[in-house]
Formats: sequence, C-alpha cells, structure tokens
Amino acid sequence: MNDVVPPFGERWRSLEGQIVALLGSYGYREIRMPLLESTQVFARSIGDTTDIVQKEMYTFTDRNGDSLTLRPEGTASCVRACLENSLLQTTGQRLFYLGPMFRHERPQKGRYRQFHQVGVEVFGLAGPEIDAELILMTARLWKLFGLRDLRLEINTLGTLAERAAYRACLVDYFTPRRDALDEESQTRLDRNPLRILDSKNPALAPLIAGAPRLTDSLGPESTAHFAQICVVLEAANIEYTVNPHLVRGLDYYSQTVFEWITTELGAQGTVCAGGRYDGLVELMGGRPTPAIGFALGLERLLELIADQVPVVQAAADVYVIAAEAAQRASALVLAEELRDAFPALRTLCHCGPESIKAQMKRADRSGARVALILGPDEILEGTVTIKSLREAIPQSRVARSAMATALSAFVT
Ligand code: ATP
Ligand code: MG
Repeated sequence: MNDVVPPFGERWRSLEGQIVALLGSYGYREIRMPLLESTQVFARSIGDTTDIVQKEMYTFTDRNGDSLTLRPEGTASCVRACLENSLLQTTGQRLFYLGPMFRHERPQKGRYRQFHQVGVEVFGLAGPEIDAELILMTARLWKLFGLRDLRLEINTLGTLAERAAYRACLVDYFTPRRDALDEESQTRLDRNPLRILDSKNPALAPLIAGAPRLTDSLGPESTAHFAQICVVLEAANIEYTVNPHLVRGLDYYSQTVFEWITTELGAQGTVCAGGRYDGLVELMGGRPTPAIGFALGLERLLELIADQVPVVQAAADVYVIAAEAAQRASALVLAEELRDAFPALRTLCHCGPESIKAQMKRADRSGARVALILGPDEILEGTVTIKSLREAIPQSRVARSAMATALSAFVT
C-alpha cells in the first residue's frame, strides 16, 4: 500500500481529472460507494472459486460480529448501491466511480495491495452498441494520453447456458491431461475449469492453445451480438484481436469480455478489463437487468504515461515576505489580496520570525518566480517591492493598487 507524496499528488489529481472529464463527455455520472461492504456482497457475486474470494480479500469481523470486507473491486458494491437506491428503474443508467480497491496479493511492479481503479458500469442496455461504445470510450482515453501500444483483446463467453456447456467440454479436454497441469490449474479443473485458460504460467500455454473454443459452440444470438461489436470496431478503425481464451477472473461475466493489454509492464500488462454481466443484478436480488462495465487500473496507466502528466515541482508561484515583525500582519493581508486577484496563483506567505535573508532563501526553495516584500517604507508609502527570483528583471517598488498589473508580467 503506497503513500502518494508531493509532487505526485498533483499528478494523480490531474490524471483523475482528465479521465472524469472524458467520462462526462459520454454522459457518465459519479457514484461513490463505501470502501467496506458486508462480505456476502463480494463472496456471492464474484464467485467462491475465484482468486479474489479464495485468497485476496481483506476480511475481518467487526465489533458486532459481522463479517466485513474491504472492497476488492467495485462492480458488486455498485450493484448493491444501485439496488438500495433504486437506480435501476432508469434504463441506460451510466455510472462511474474512482477510488482504492484492496487485494491481498504478492506485491510487485504494477500489483499492489491497495490500488486504484476507475470503474464504469452501465445498466439496462442489452444490445451490442453499448459494449462497442465502452470500447470506443477507452480507445479515446488512450488517445488522450498518447498511448499507441495498447492491444485490444475481445472474446465472448456466451450465455450462462452456453458457458456451462463449454465448461463440460473443457473438463473433457483437461481431465486426461491433468498431470500436465500445474497445481493451481489442477485445483481450477475441479472448481472452475474456465479459469485454467486465464493461467499466467507460460509452461501451460501450448496445452491451453489446444483447448476447445467456446466460439465454436455459440448460439446464433451470442454470435450476432459479438459480430455486431466487431462491426462497430471496424467502422471506427479500432484494431482488435479475438482471443478465444480470454476469460475474466470473476464469475459474473457472460457474453462480451475485453482487455486492453500492454507489453511494457511485464506480466502485469492488463491496464483495463471489462465485460458484460447480465446475470449479476438478479443474482444480487434485483430484477433481471442487462449490465456491462470495465475497470481501469490507475497505477498501471500512470506507469505508462508517467512522462506525459507534468510533475509540478514548485510549491508556490509567489512568496510574500515581511522584512520585520511589524509588517507580518500586513504580509498576510497582502497575500489575501493576491488570492482575490489571482485565485489560481499559488501564494505562500512566510510564517515565522526569520530574517529577510532567510526568508529569501525559503522563497527561492519554494520554486516561486517572484517575491513580494513589505518593509516599513513600503507600509508608509502604500507600496510593495517586487523581486524576480528567476529572471533578470530589476527589482521594483509599485503602488499596492498597481500590484496586480505589475505581477501580470510574472504570472502569465
Ligand atoms: P490480473 O489478471 O492482472 O490479476 P485481474 O483480472 O485480477 O487482473 P480485474 O479484477 O479485472 O483484474 O481489475 C481490473 C484492473 O485493475 C486490472 O486490469 C488492473 O489494471 C488493475 N488491477 C487489478 N489488480 C491490481 C493490483 N493488485 N494492483 C494494481 N492494479 C490492479
Ligand atoms: Mg488478479
């Protein structure tokens, strides 16, 4: 779990701001859920045999004896919140959230125990257009950040019935080859065979490549839904690969699944992942509601665009100095006037009894471009001394009424 310290706090805020603005341009609205939920919210929805529920959740018993879990992902919480707040009456509810998720995983680059996701969920739309639009929206996001090396993989898991039939095919295929599987995949064979396809063990790749494909046994509806997504992607010039072995780690997915993957982050290459989960709302006690969403890992995205989000090194733009104790109150008032005139300017007023020399040093270290100095003469005359800290501009003394104009030279 990482601290975010300056100057990276600004970088996070800037990244989040750009993403939120883009989501807004597609009509998405923000929802905020608690970080803690009753354990059942996740255990029932994500699936008992998934990695998340089996070994990654931070679960504890609270003082009432209730089992609570720090959210490992947002979809289940979001559905719970939508049901409790009757948000699903509206067809085409488009929501997003942004914040920390918690998974007890082995920490490594791109994999942390507290990480951050932007999650997007849409409820009530069954047709393939929204699936395609979600993908277009993510593609626009990569474009915004100048990312050209992300690869889109898509697949369909079919309806729940088609998925069940496929599961049986996989069991038939892997059971005679059980000894060739690693321990984890052997367990998956017993509990959740689809997830063998999701194995990250390269030694299993050839075996997995030979496994039967769900796409070969899909019904006409699933096939048409998927084909229409491909039509839109092609019309919009979005390159994609159909990966028949793309399954998602969570049980609630059906039909469309997709991932955006980079080769730059090693094994932690999936930056954004999502899919359709038409059965989840009903599973969680609501009326049958088609739904689709994705989650975007912000640490991984930030890692990819680190050079493009500017780091603001300077703590201040303007540094206000009082030459003597008698001018300290005036200095604070002067700083207030500055904030009235230039709300976007970062104004630091020196606080403390330091000598003018020491204050000038602080001003320099703050990164400010200009220092404003108030001494006894300035107070008498109603002026302020403006001293450039970076450029070779001669020091000048200007009337307080002309201060804003004089400063404009520095704070374009
Ligand atoms: P992975 O296969 O990498 O474990 P996942 O399938 O568990 O990913 P999801 O649950 O789909 O991941 O989460 C969506 C996105 O959230 C991932 O694509 C990734 O960008 C990010 N993510 C997931 N787990 C972590 C983590 N522990 N640390 C940082 N980012 C993460
Ligand atoms: Mg995972």
